[in-house]
Amino acid sequence: MELYVQKFGGSSMRDAERVRNVAKIVTKTWDQNKNVVVVVSAQGDTTDDLIAKANELNPKASKREMDVLLSTGEQISISLLAMTIEGMGYPVKSFTGWQAGFLTDSTHSNARIRNINKQRIENELQKRTIVIVAGFQGVNRYDDITTLGRGGSDTSAVALAAVLHADRCQIYTDVDGVYTADPRIVKNAVKLGAISYDEMLELASLGAQVLHNRSVEMAKRYNVDLEVLSSLEKKPGTIIKEDASVEKMIIRGVAKDANVARISLVEVPDQPGIAFKVFSILASKKINVDIILQSIGRDGTKDITFTVAKDHLEETVEVLNANRDKIGHKEVLTDDQVAKVSIVGAGMESNPGVASKMFEALYSANINIQMISTSEIKVSVLIDINDAKRAVVAIHDAFYNN
Ligand code: ADP
Ligand code: ASP
Ligand code: MG
Repeated sequence: MELYVQKFGGSSMRDAERVRNVAKIVTKTWDQNKNVVVVVSAQGDTTDDLIAKANELNPKASKREMDVLLSTGEQISISLLAMTIEGMGYPVKSFTGWQAGFLTDSTHSNARIRNINKQRIENELQKRTIVIVAGFQGVNRYDDITTLGRGGSDTSAVALAAVLHADRCQIYTDVDGVYTADPRIVKNAVKLGAISYDEMLELASLGAQVLHNRSVEMAKRYNVDLEVLSSLEKKPGTIIKEDASVEKMIIRGVAKDANVARISLVEVPDQPGIAFKVFSILASKKINVDIILQSIGRDGTKDITFTVAKDHLEETVEVLNANRDKIGHKEVLTDDQVAKVSIVGAGMESNPGVASKMFEALYSANINIQMISTSEIKVSVLIDINDAKRAVVAIHDAFYNN
């Protein structure tokens, strides 16, 4: 019997009407003689609301306690969906992440899945039970609750699809597929029928929140047949697969990431080993650094500028200042009013002039570039956060309307 994993995000689960709608999609799939494992996220803005509640009481709460709190959002969703489906007369059971066997590492708030003990789910599927699993959560080896990072329910779904060898993993959301840019920002964005794992991974990593980047990484590794589609409109979505070169486009998409902050280490000694020191200190604290820029040395000193995720800004500055003796910087400057805008496309490698076209679009829109970074299949720029939406539209226009 075919097995489908279907994931429904917060917007698809927002209120009673939407939960009923999800129940309809799930039971319809079951009626078509398929087994179904459903993964759900917290309803609407529940996760943000829980974070706000925590901040009221302790803005510096430990990540362990934050995970205990945030995991409750998904538990509300699984039970509500299960009782709705129950009411429709179908066999159904809900499971928290730990009941479903999700074992993760101990990186609270951003844990990685280590293993899924799938026995319980498989037993239920054999009985034709509709299995509903809370996304975004697991336990570490001490049985402490962990969460997988914002947007992590997508990764729960793909991981389940991989271990259960599902025939398809469907990510239902509030848009009907993956577009060349966020359709909420760019009105004439184009829906992609298909996109390769690699391009989707870049888009997701660069801020296209429609899929959690780790879910794409995992789908690629385990060759999971992945589809993004709408829970509100019945139409084909976007397929993510190994080779999607059918559509000949140089640029596959434009992405924006506002979860970025810029940090400058001013006047560090201009000697070998300084960059190594700075970035190994940050790596040991599990702080991910993205774009890096180093100035030419002058009078024995230079500046090193780099970006980190906004929620790591405070911690990064603390770590840098705690290591001032080792690094030798004069001061640390920060700016969290920045955003990263990127273009992605596997066709870029063989098409010179792509980057300059992007820069021209920004110039024409009078948007200043603070930093640039490139790879074979992407170009990213760091700009003022207030210019970000305009930049996405201008760049998208330059590539798609000519
Ligand atoms: P869910 O609650 O279903 O997980 P998300 O809000 O996480 O939904 O992701 C869906 C959103 O991703 C869309 O509403 C859209 O605004 C945004 N998005 C950003 N970039 C893209 C893109 N390239 N294609 C489609 N949607 C995108
Ligand atoms: N509820 C979590 C979040 O808001 C996980 C998810 O939506 O995938 O980040
Ligand atoms: Mg999401």
